[in-house]
Amino acid sequence: MTHFLIIGSGAAGVSAAEIIRKHAPAGHITLIGEEPDGYYSRPGLAYILTREIPEEQLSPFSPEDFKRLNIHWVTAQALGVDPARKQVALSNGKTLGYDRLLLATGAQARPAGVPGEKLPDGTLLPGVVQLDNFANTREIMRRARKAKAAVVVGGGITALEMVEGLVSLGVKTHYFLRGDRYWGNVLDETESHIVEHRLQEEGVKIHYHTEIEAILSKNSGLFGRGELQVSGVKTKAGATIPCELVGVAVGVGPRLELAQAAGLKIEKGVVVDERMQTSHPDIYAAGDVAQVRDPMTGKPVMDVLWPTAREQGRVAGANMAGVPTVYKKDIPLNVTRLAGLTTTIIGAIGGQTPDNDTIGIVRGDSETWRDIPDAIAAQSHFDVNRIRLMVGERTLLGAIVMGDQKLSQPIHQLVAQQIDITPIRNQLLNPHTRIGEVIAAFWEQVRK
Ligand SMILES: Cc1cc2nc3c(=O)[nH]c(=O)nc-3n(C[C@H](O)[C@H](O)[C@H](O)COP(=O)(O)OP(=O)(O)OC[C@H]3O[C@@H](n4cnc5c(N)ncnc54)[C@H](O)[C@@H]3O)c2cc1C
Repeated sequence: MTHFLIIGSGAAGVSAAEIIRKHAPAGHITLIGEEPDGYYSRPGLAYILTREIPEEQLSPFSPEDFKRLNIHWVTAQALGVDPARKQVALSNGKTLGYDRLLLATGAQARPAGVPGEKLPDGTLLPGVVQLDNFANTREIMRRARKAKAAVVVGGGITALEMVEGLVSLGVKTHYFLRGDRYWGNVLDETESHIVEHRLQEEGVKIHYHTEIEAILSKNSGLFGRGELQVSGVKTKAGATIPCELVGVAVGVGPRLELAQAAGLKIEKGVVVDERMQTSHPDIYAAGDVAQVRDPMTGKPVMDVLWPTAREQGRVAGANMAGVPTVYKKDIPLNVTRLAGLTTTIIGAIGGQTPDNDTIGIVRGDSETWRDIPDAIAAQSHFDVNRIRLMVGERTLLGAIVMGDQKLSQPIHQLVAQQIDITPIRNQLLNPHTRIGEVIAAFWEQVRK
């Protein structure tokens, strides 16, 4: 009986387990996950923080779903992979053998890299928080109950989710931006300003061109007996802001330790071919840890997106089970919420500012978004509802739809299916055109 071993119980790992069970009904599947919370929706953590949904709602699977998969679930950390012996060493002292192995270890939040952020033992100073998993989301909520003020750094979706979560928990929040606007390498100026304006209306104090020089600490009894914890931050301009929480969301990095130790080929992530196979024939990788090649540009890319992780897990799992399947990198798509505004980001849409505020890749992000050298942007805006299209020679390359979402599906289809937009291209590029009406009429024709 073939033994399929999966390290990582997130979106990619569980998706792989599902497809393996489909193609190999008699196979033995073991899923190793270090988190006691098991499989849950990471994008949903933001809604836990704002208390919009209860914890139970975060699980995409019921116990029956897992029973149906008939997987052997092990809660432990995988410490090492020995490709020669085909063995994985676990933190519980056990060693497991495998026939096919999947690395689905995901990515984790990077530290801010400033003095005072860590204790001498290398752990984060209590009060320095990251929105990365269930455990640290609960920790933010616990500390927010007693905190008066917080400072948040970082330029992408997760930073904003932390800002909004802290505001909703009643904490006075200072938001530091390195540049002069929010998420400048994905949003354009108007979109950034819409988001900033809405945050300010909620009482957030935005500090532009501001970076942390050091995190300050003191012994305090706020969360127990005499714990050393955050007491404020010092900025590079020399100001001091007292606070009990520092939220860090400056990007994520793939968890490469196991792949490195196993001697797999690594560039930005674990290099995989179109079947999600690594440089070792029995080892596959999928999700945030994997680096694929964009067939359009030929460049290696990383996506940190939930649907991408699910799809890569599906492809890896099928190949592991002996059903040849090729991964086709889709145009990246993310439906998210920015300062309360539903926002759909489709395909290539970069904001093209050299002075951006995002370091590397952030949660809910794709490197493809920033790679649009010759696209032309057309836009329309009424209040906060906004559509921005990236118009190529014959097709739409990408779009951002903010607020009213009526057209996000049609636009997604036009981009994904590479529909020839020649009949409306000139209209779209005319600054007086009401883009929404043109797209709606064109979509009606295309559908027919
Ligand atoms: C706050 C937040 C907001 C997000 N928002 C969005 C969004 O709006 N849209 C979107 O598309 N995506 C979003 N994402 C990203 C999305 O959740 C990830 O792309 C997706 O979860 C990646 O799936 P994965 O399976 O590759 O990794 P993960 O979901 O990270 O799962 C990996 C698992 O492996 C475990 N693991 C790692 N190493 C080991 C080991 N050695 N032993 C045992 N277990 C190990 C980890 O603990 C983890 O449980 C967000 C993520 C976060 C945290």
